[in-house]
Parts: sequence; C-alpha cells; structure tokens
Amino acid sequence: MSRSVLITGGNRGIGLAIARAFAAEGDRVAVTYRSSPPSDPGLLAVPCDVTSTEQVDAAFTAVEAAHGPVEILVANAGITQDTLLPLMSDEAFTSVVDTNLGGAFRVARRASRRMLRARRGRIVFISSVVGATGGAGQANYAASKAGLVGLARSVARELGPRGITANVVAPGLVTSDMTAVLSAERQQAILARTASGRATEPDEIARSVVYLASEAAATVNGSVLTIDGGLSAGV
Ligand code: NDP
Repeated sequence: MSRSVLITGGNRGIGLAIARAFAAEGDRVAVTYRSSPPSDPGLLAVPCDVTSTEQVDAAFTAVEAAHGPVEILVANAGITQDTLLPLMSDEAFTSVVDTNLGGAFRVARRASRRMLRARRGRIVFISSVVGATGGAGQANYAASKAGLVGLARSVARELGPRGITANVVAPGLVTSDMTAVLSAERQQAILARTASGRATEPDEIARSVVYLASEAAATVNGSVLTIDGGLSAGV
C-alpha cells in the first residue's frame, strides 16, 4: 500500500537516494530542499529550511494537501562546520546543532501530531558514527549527532505505545557532496580504519531506511543501526 513519506534534505546525496528508494516501493514521496529541487518528476519537492518552525509547518501543510498526512518521516538534513575546539565560534556550534538536532526535533514534533491521531508512524533520524566515536574538529557535529540518539529513544518511549517507531541510522563514510570536500588524505585515513575498506554508497543507506519503515521492523524501536563498513566496530 502506498504511504506518504517525507525526507528532509532530499534534493541530493543520501536524502535523494532514500527518496528514490521509497518511490521505487510505490510510495508517495515528498522531499524538502533549500537550494534547488531534485529533477526527479515523481518526487514532490517543497522548500524548507529546517531551522525555521514556520517553514517546517508550511512544508508539512503542503505535503498533507498533496499526499495526505506524513506516515514516514526521515530527518536527514544536516551540515558540517568542522573546526578545532579552541577555534570554534558560537555560530559554528549553534548553527550545526540547530540544523542537525533542532531541525530533526522540529520535523519530528510536527509529524508526531498526525501520527498520534493515526496511531501509526515511522520516524528515522540520520545520525553518524561520529555521534558515538566523536571526531577531532567535530565537537559541534558529534554533539548534534549524539543528541539524535537521545531524541529518538525518547520519541520511541513516548510514542511507541501509539504504534509509532523512532530509530536512528548511523552511517560511516558515505559518498556524497558532504564528504567530497574532505582531502584525499583524510578519506584514506578513514578508509584505513574501515574493515570493509570502502565508503558506503547512498543507496546502501537508503535500503536500511526502507527496512526500518517497513512492517518487518514493527518492533525495532529506539535502535541505532550503524552502517559504516566496520569503522566503529567494537567502539
Ligand atoms: P549533503 O551535503 O550531500 O546534503 C545535505 C542535505 O541537507 C542537502 O539536501 C541540504 O539541502 C540539506 N540541508 C542542510 N541544511 C539544511 C537546512 N537548514 N534546512 C533544510 N535542509 C538542509 O550531505 P549527505 O547527503 O552526505 O548527508 C545527509 C545526512 O547524512 C546528513 O545529516 C549527514 O550529517 C549524514 N551523514 C553523512 C555522512 C557522509 O559520509 N556523507 C556520514 C554520516 C552521516 P541544500 O541542498 O539546500 O543545501
């Protein structure tokens, strides 16, 4: 049965791969974008900066009008602003946390209202292994991604009794614009610690998100699914 799906930051990278995977399942898929919409004709693209409660509300209202209430929410939008701690500005910390964690909170809160009424729903937060391991130069990013785990587990406990699940996917190095800016040396250093010896492709993340949103995952709730080729194995 076709479901109403919304993915934040679904115009490129991992978010777009997730959108395409749900579309291939036959779902009604909407994505948010800030810069430019994706060219895929099957996706409903709505403008939204997740740091704005008003824009989040407007995006949900547009999706609800076109596709019905959001049944599956993927909070994927995220940014990095890496700097060593002594040099990290308030703005670099606040903007990363407000986008990655605050944005996820805003969309989950907005989605929860209709999910509660329907007594079903799926929320997947895209975190990072860095949330568990930490990362030099990534105090802001790691804090935001670790925060998503606490957010998801709280949502799972609060809304689980109403048929709603909230889970986290924690990728390692994934091929996308976000990692294309890393130096070849940095990428090699990460891959040297990755058991599988390669980066993960966006569609490999997407397939796991589709699983977490499926009936087969009905009792997977408050979980963190790490997909990192073994980068954080044993951590
Ligand atoms: P990209 O940089 O390719 O895409 C980021 C997406 O987030 C874009 O769609 C962007 O929209 C959107 N976005 C950023 N800020 C906002 C905002 N304020 N409001 C709305 N949308 C916003 O990154 P990836 O595809 O690689 O990353 C997707 C997610 O996966 C992120 O949360 C990232 O932290 C996480 N992740 C990525 C890893 C990797 O190795 N690539 C590893 C672990 C986690 P726009 O185009 O408008 O800028």
